[in-house]
Amino acid sequence: MSEGHRGAPEGVVDLRRLDLAPGAGARVDVPVPLDDITLGGQPYVPDPRVVDARLDVGSSGSGIGLRLRFTTAVTGPCQRCLAPSSCTIAVDARDFQASGRADAHEADDDLDCEYLSGPMRMELDVAAWARDALAEALPMSILCREDCAGLCARCGADLNASPCECVDDEVDPRWAALGELKERLGEATDDDG
Ligand SMILES: [Zn+2]
Ligand SMILES: [Zn+2]
Repeated sequence: MSEGHRGAPEGVVDLRRLDLAPGAGARVDVPVPLDDITLGGQPYVPDPRVVDARLDVGSSGSGIGLRLRFTTAVTGPCQRCLAPSSCTIAVDARDFQASGRADAHEADDDLDCEYLSGPMRMELDVAAWARDALAEALPMSILCREDCAGLCARCGADLNASPCECVDDEVDPRWAALGELKERLGEATDDDG
């Protein structure tokens, strides 16, 4: 279970150790453990569980620019038919820490990076940043395939495998077609909400 006994907590980088002169930059690869994500009540599991995140740090007169990049797959049930699904997510997040903020009593959204802490605001919680950035980069829906037909709302049959009997049963096919059209229009104008 133990991944070693390093001094700093896992996924935390002390920016002081980079010893950046103004105008200089540094690149560090940080192993970051990722948590499961819950989406619509379903668990989605990052694969691999630990990614090598690339951290770019650039120092300027006004502060420190931060960029975090990594790619991971996320696996879990298709949101329409529940079949095992996977999607690849490329995360590219940026943040900024203004200089001269070591003594500030309250964090300022525009000036302070929320993942920095410690007495000099120089300890970067890369793991927390990576978790939030991954959650933000998730697609609107995770599907087994783009045109997944989903499950029948009435009988639960997997409509990817074969059409179910429900339509013949009671619903006039013309109404079913209309419903399908409505759903497609709904998807097309999603943000009318
Ligand atoms: Zn599906
Ligand atoms: Zn059915």
